[in-house]
Amino acid sequence: MNTRDTLYVKDGNLMIGSFKATELAAKFGTPLYVMDAQYIAEVCDAFVAAVNKCGSGAVAFANKAFATVATAKLAAAHGLWFDVVSGGELYLVAQAGADMKKVLFHGNNKTPREIDEGLAHGIGFFVVDSLNELELLDEKAGRRGVKQDVLVRVNPGVSAHTYEAVMTAAPFSKFGFDVHGDALDVIKDIASRKNLNFRGLHVHIGSQIYDHSSYDAAIDITTDFVKKLADEGIVTDILDMGGGYGIYYTDEDPKFTPRRYAYTVESIARLVAEKSAEKGLKQPFLIVEPGRSIVGEAGITLYTVGAIKDFPGVRKYVAVDGGMFDNPRYALYESRYSAVIANKADKPADEIVTIAGKCCESGDLIGKDMPLQHAETGDILAVFSTGAYNYSMASNYNLNAVPPVVLVDGDKADYIVKPQTYGDLLRNNTVPEWLNG
Ligand SMILES: *Cc1c(COP(=O)(O)O)cnc(C)c1O
Repeated sequence: MNTRDTLYVKDGNLMIGSFKATELAAKFGTPLYVMDAQYIAEVCDAFVAAVNKCGSGAVAFANKAFATVATAKLAAAHGLWFDVVSGGELYLVAQAGADMKKVLFHGNNKTPREIDEGLAHGIGFFVVDSLNELELLDEKAGRRGVKQDVLVRVNPGVSAHTYEAVMTAAPFSKFGFDVHGDALDVIKDIASRKNLNFRGLHVHIGSQIYDHSSYDAAIDITTDFVKKLADEGIVTDILDMGGGYGIYYTDEDPKFTPRRYAYTVESIARLVAEKSAEKGLKQPFLIVEPGRSIVGEAGITLYTVGAIKDFPGVRKYVAVDGGMFDNPRYALYESRYSAVIANKADKPADEIVTIAGKCCESGDLIGKDMPLQHAETGDILAVFSTGAYNYSMASNYNLNAVPPVVLVDGDKADYIVKPQTYGDLLRNNTVPEWLNG
């Protein structure tokens, strides 16, 4: 457990802000996503300070990690920009009242409709990722009579030290243009177009990265490429180094504090400044795009323990009222988590159990072989670091409702996503007339 001021154990109970986790579970029901507003605010502030340490820059929250209107408002209030990867995320940040000039639109295959929507909202930047997009955007911007600012997603060919599904900048990735390949020609092409304004480069090497050397290598290669562009008379105003900072899930991971996360951003800012100076380049405006490191540890999922099945000497299953519909990350990547029985948080975690979900899928686990206090039916189980890529990846599999989300802000707690009803689950079902007899 990575405890902090707003996540701690008191009198045997797990506390989130001023609330016992069991109290939240009783009031709002389980399964329940709980988000810690104070932690989110603290990380946002630390990142904003860090990105401006060696020049000027901005922190764009990667919405795909956790997208709700309330947390987008919270992030905007702390000075964050937004990165969006779909028309839906774009709609969300607009609903949250974000300054659309501070929105970046990513994605390797934006649809024509999404490009229209981005232009209609007057977003700050499209991050161009393919030749198809380049043509479409140029044409559509022309039709609207605007000159659209663009960044170009480039692939520096760095293998981040992380697992393959979240590694995005190895050679032959589906993302971006290769700095050792066609990127130069693509940018020359953009620079010659009437309706597009080349502003800079975007790099995102992957996710759940603890090892700095991956960023260092990416910055070195990318600034070499900026130099190459400068030699062609093309100015790079902006360098967006993406996100991907690794967070604490289990005791095998480093336990970082907001300040330690900010140090990663600070060292990226410092290295960008150093490498730019060394190569005779104007210092770019630096954008970073953390997602997981802002919301990941802010999230705790609460479940009620139901069925318990013990195969002595083999495995003990503790089943909860959630599963892959609220957290598909074990099923997708065999991701690891840590957990505690919220009402026995001061007891030793002296059993090794497999936490199972309730879906009809044997791969539906929250985690395998996890240390846990002795679980009994009716206990409240808290799983940590579920704020990123849980709610945003949730589904209605088996027609389970996506759990509601409660925001805790010190001594205040309320829904930011309300519970789904059975009616919600069927809202878009419709029966063609010929079946109605
Ligand atoms: C996923 C993603 C991020 C955020 O990654 P985290 O690991 O959540 O920090 C940032 N930028 C881009 C382009 C991404 O695809």
